[in-house]
Amino acid sequence: MALRCWRWWHWSACPGTRPLSAGSSSRSRAPLGLGVCQQFSTQEPSPQICVVGSGPAGFYTAQHLLKHHTQAYVDIYEKQLVPFGLIRFGVAPDHPEVKNVISTFTQTARSDRCAFHGNVVVGRDVTVLELQKAYHAVVLSYGAEDHRALEIPGEELPGVFSARAFVGWYNGLPENQELAPDLSCDTAVILGQGNVALDMARILLTPPEHLEKTDITEASLRALRQSRVKTVWIVGRRGPLQAAFTIKELREMIQLPGTRPILDPADFLGLQDRIKDLPRPRKRLTELLLRTAVEKPGVEEAARQALAPHSWGLRFFRSPQQVLPSPDGRQAAGIRLAVTRLEGFGEAAKAVPTGDTEDLACGLVLSSVGYKSRLIDPTVPFDPKLGVIPNVEGRVVDMPGLYCSGWVKRGPTGVIATTMTDSFLTGQTLLQDLKAGLLSSDPKPGYTAIEALLSSRGVWPVSFSDWEKLDAEEVSRGQCAGKPREKLLDPQEMLRLLGR
Ligand code: FAD
Ligand code: NAP
Repeated sequence: MALRCWRWWHWSACPGTRPLSAGSSSRSRAPLGLGVCQQFSTQEPSPQICVVGSGPAGFYTAQHLLKHHTQAYVDIYEKQLVPFGLIRFGVAPDHPEVKNVISTFTQTARSDRCAFHGNVVVGRDVTVLELQKAYHAVVLSYGAEDHRALEIPGEELPGVFSARAFVGWYNGLPENQELAPDLSCDTAVILGQGNVALDMARILLTPPEHLEKTDITEASLRALRQSRVKTVWIVGRRGPLQAAFTIKELREMIQLPGTRPILDPADFLGLQDRIKDLPRPRKRLTELLLRTAVEKPGVEEAARQALAPHSWGLRFFRSPQQVLPSPDGRQAAGIRLAVTRLEGFGEAAKAVPTGDTEDLACGLVLSSVGYKSRLIDPTVPFDPKLGVIPNVEGRVVDMPGLYCSGWVKRGPTGVIATTMTDSFLTGQTLLQDLKAGLLSSDPKPGYTAIEALLSSRGVWPVSFSDWEKLDAEEVSRGQCAGKPREKLLDPQEMLRLLGR
């Protein structure tokens, strides 16, 4: 309540200016600038908005709201103790440049009108209805926390992992630290041909010394150093024209030191004539695939490939049918693939089984057929089939004041830039509704009310300045090994470091 009164006061008093990214503690919210008073009526309460999830969608939505409404306050709730979602727990450790967006998110989190509350599981520690009562608007940006199941026999066998779990393991997601994938086998099979599949193939085959200076966890690096995986098959149910990965990631695979690509020229028959009609990105990707599959490499490249101790291959027109058990039934020992042919053309072509099958022996199966959002609160509409919150331009259907952005809004595809555009659009929709008077104009308590609820339930949120302490600790632990950071893996240890 004290915070609410203070906010009313500073609006009418309109003291000196304070820049948005003042770098102060995320809990201290300073008075706003003169421009604010000129733009907005002092009669209206300061909009209190909360965002659920601190991945790119959450941060980009917050950024848009703070930039385009100079009186709005944004609280970001996050279930993990640490921010940034898949930027920290998804993006591959050998792609550090992708993580540069963290500095923009940090600017947003340090704003006087923004606060981060980690260690709060929305749907468990606080309900969406409670958030709606405390805020003028709630934006659900909680991503896609599950994986899409293959729904084939043997999927539950040891040796079969979802991409989400495997990626979480090498990226330090606390819940995946017990994964212990057995890398003592000769062959791994990755099901699905998206960029996540290529990320995992690359991590499995990159010479470990090349990963030593990344933020990969020490435990997974140790396992990768002892890995005996020599061949990785990346399996797609459709053909080269439907592969979901992009050219940059494919080129990286083709150039991966110590490896050679295996592509079957038969998969590319007749493609040469169709290339000219393809949209440009697909055209360039197909040209690269075709060159790799059918052209003889130059002398130097041929020598490099001949010496390569590892290989990776793209297996097209194969749909997973069954994970084959070892003779004692205790472990995955292979995968049965249904041979397919395509019905229809281009992106929309469907894979149809021909009736033939092929068995591939392998000791590790990584299922990379996509992530999936879950329902976190029964009061929120959810489409279980599409795995999204039904919405129109980010407005959750039949739920005034409730919005969504990112993967939970449009499904688990799209890069960070797509998520940014999408989140800005949700922010814009929300501000339009605010301007049109569609949201409550009563003053709202915001975090003051939620903090009291959380503390009565024994939940102790982690602030952005707490995260900055953990961040400094990680950076310092990484320094001696020449790594950008050594990630903290144990939430209990993190809380101890924060004196909790
Ligand atoms: P997320 O990033 O998943 O963020 C959701 C957040 O919500 C998480 O922090 C989660 O902990 C939190 N949350 C979940 N449930 C709750 C709850 N109940 N209460 C509170 N908080 C909750 N894109 C690129 O451009 N380049 C890349 O190199 C790249 N690599 C990728 C690698 C992988 C393995 C994956 C899966 C994706 C990658 N992407 C990449 C895509 C990019 O990560 C996504 O576009 C983006 O992260 C989606 O953002 P989001 O905020 O919707 O979801
Ligand atoms: P994705 O791009 O949607 O790829 C999923 C793959 O799984 C497709 O090949 C798909 O084939 C296949 N698949 C789906 N269901 C299947 C089934 N039942 N059986 C067999 N195969 C099935 O998903 P993703 O790889 O998880 O990536 C998610 C998003 O993150 C993408 O937009 C991606 O670009 C992005 N990302 C980007 C980067 C990067 O920029 N470096 C890195 C990682 C991820 P069909 O096409 O036949 O359905």
